[in-house]
Amino acid sequence: MSSRTPVTIVTGAAGFLGSHLCDRFLAEGHKVIGMDNLITGDLRNLAHLMPSPAFEFYHQDVSRFVHVPGPVDNILHFASPASPIDYLKIPIQTLKVGSLGTHNLLGLARDKKARILVASTSEVYGDPLVHPQTESYWGNVNPVGPRGVYDEAKRFQEAITMAYHTYHGLETRIVRIFNTYGPRMRLNDGRALPAFIGQALRGEPLTVFGDGSQTRSFCYVDDLIEGIYRLLNSDYSGPVNIGNPHEITIREFAEEIQALTGTDQPITYLPLPQDDPKQRRPDITLARDLLGWEPKVRRADGLRDTLDYFRSLPREEWFKEAHGREF
Ligand code: UDP
Repeated sequence: MSSRTPVTIVTGAAGFLGSHLCDRFLAEGHKVIGMDNLITGDLRNLAHLMPSPAFEFYHQDVSRFVHVPGPVDNILHFASPASPIDYLKIPIQTLKVGSLGTHNLLGLARDKKARILVASTSEVYGDPLVHPQTESYWGNVNPVGPRGVYDEAKRFQEAITMAYHTYHGLETRIVRIFNTYGPRMRLNDGRALPAFIGQALRGEPLTVFGDGSQTRSFCYVDDLIEGIYRLLNSDYSGPVNIGNPHEITIREFAEEIQALTGTDQPITYLPLPQDDPKQRRPDITLARDLLGWEPKVRRADGLRDTLDYFRSLPREEWFKEAHGREF
C-alpha cells in the first residue's frame, strides 16, 4: 500500500455539514479539497482552515464540469441548498446540484477510482405514511409540490448513484440525513431551530407553523459526522439512515428553546407550509448493526452549545433578514 496522504473532496464545504466534514477529515490526516459556489455557504465557516497546507478551497459550482488534478480517494457530495426557504427561492439550482452535480461527481469518482458518498435526506420519505422510517420505505413525495425540487433531486441522486454502483462497479455510499443542528447553521436559514433561537435572541415571538403537533427528531452535528465517517469506511452501498430517533413535537421544541434562552416571548401560530411532513423519526437499526453507531449527544447539551455559538455571532447577524439574502 502506498503511504500517500489520502485526498478527500468535500462539496458544499462552506456550508453547515460540509465545513464540519472538512474539519473531521483534516483531523484524520487527509488532504481536503473543499468546493463551494457560495450561494448558501459562507466562507467564514472555513476561515480557520484556510491557513492549513492540507486544505485547498475551490470556488466551484459542481453543477458544471468539475476538474481536479492529481489523485482523489474520496468524494463527499454535500453541496445543495438544504432548508425549505432556500430551495423554494432557488429551485432550479437545487434540482441541478442534486442531479447534474451528482452526475459530474460520479464521473469524477469513476475517473479517479475514488469512493463517493452522497448526502441524501429523510425528505426522500416525503410526508411519510410509515413511522418510524426504515430504509426499505419508498416514501410519499409530491413531485410537483414546493418541496419536490429538493426531494426529487435527492431521489434522482440516489438512483443515479446506485446505477453507477451497479453498472460501473463504483464504490458508492448513500447517507439519508435526518434533521441535524449545531454550530455553523445559518441563523436566517428559516429552519425551526435557528428560527426559534434567532427570535428569542431578538426578543420576538417564536413562530410555530400549524398547531405544532408535527414531529421531528433532531441530531447533533458531531453525532452525524461520526455516522458519516463510519459509513464512508464501511462496505455498504445501500442507503443508511443517520439521525437521532428521539422525536418531539415542534411545539415542545419551541418550548424547550423558550426555557433554554430564558426569553419571555410567547409562541405565535402561523399557517403550516404546504406538504410539511407531519411526522419524522429515523429507524436507525441498520446504522447500529452495520456501523456500531448511535447518537450520543443529549439534546440539552447540543442545544446549549448551539445557543452559545449563535450568541457569539456579531449582533448584526442576529438581525439579518432571511429573505434579504441575495442569490
Ligand atoms: N417550523 C416552525 N417554525 C419556523 C420554522 C419551521 O414551526 O419558524 C416547523 C416546520 O413547519 C416543520 C418543522 O418546524 O414542521 C421543521 O422545519 P425545518 O424547516 O426545520 O425542517 P424540515 O421541515 O425540513 O424538517
